[in-house]
Amino acid sequence: MSVTNYACINADTNVDLLIDRFPGVVPVFVERRMHCVGCPMARFETLADVCGIYGLPIGPLLTELRASAMTGIGRSKGVAMTYVIAQPCIGVKDGSCVEVCPVDCIHTDDESDQYFIDPDECIDCGVCAEVCPVEAIFFEDDLPEQWANFLGLNRQYFNRKP
Ligand code: SF4
Ligand code: SF4
Repeated sequence: MSVTNYACINADTNVDLLIDRFPGVVPVFVERRMHCVGCPMARFETLADVCGIYGLPIGPLLTELRASAMTGIGRSKGVAMTYVIAQPCIGVKDGSCVEVCPVDCIHTDDESDQYFIDPDECIDCGVCAEVCPVEAIFFEDDLPEQWANFLGLNRQYFNRKP
């Protein structure tokens, strides 16, 4: 079933379509430790299905999903906080984070030896950091001091793109 506005979100709503239409709902799943974001099975599951899987009541989940979809919880454009990819990605660059990012804001090119996060598109859901095999992804405030320059390197990658 399609999801055209937040009021349509109900027990029969497809999880994958919901996340695609309203990326602002991602933190609702993450905070409940529901691994729906980036899961291939989400294409076949409704909210009722996943509540059954996780043993959660659907009422509070629907309320929170509608609220987050309506208000666009997540990143506001122009706010200077973001997730950042740092040194450990270099030499690994396996793309696991790209597979799970709900807003497709992780990119690279053949000349670069790592991936980068677009700070203007990232909604701060943190899902990429959970799947990175080498713990290369940090919230800006948690970036280790020795890798502080990677904040600028990530931003610079997108500034130089036409
Ligand atoms: S880059 Fe990471 S934190 Fe930002 S939106 Fe994508 S998955 Fe979420
Ligand atoms: S998952 Fe980690 S190592 Fe893999 S591309 Fe993303 S940041 Fe780099």
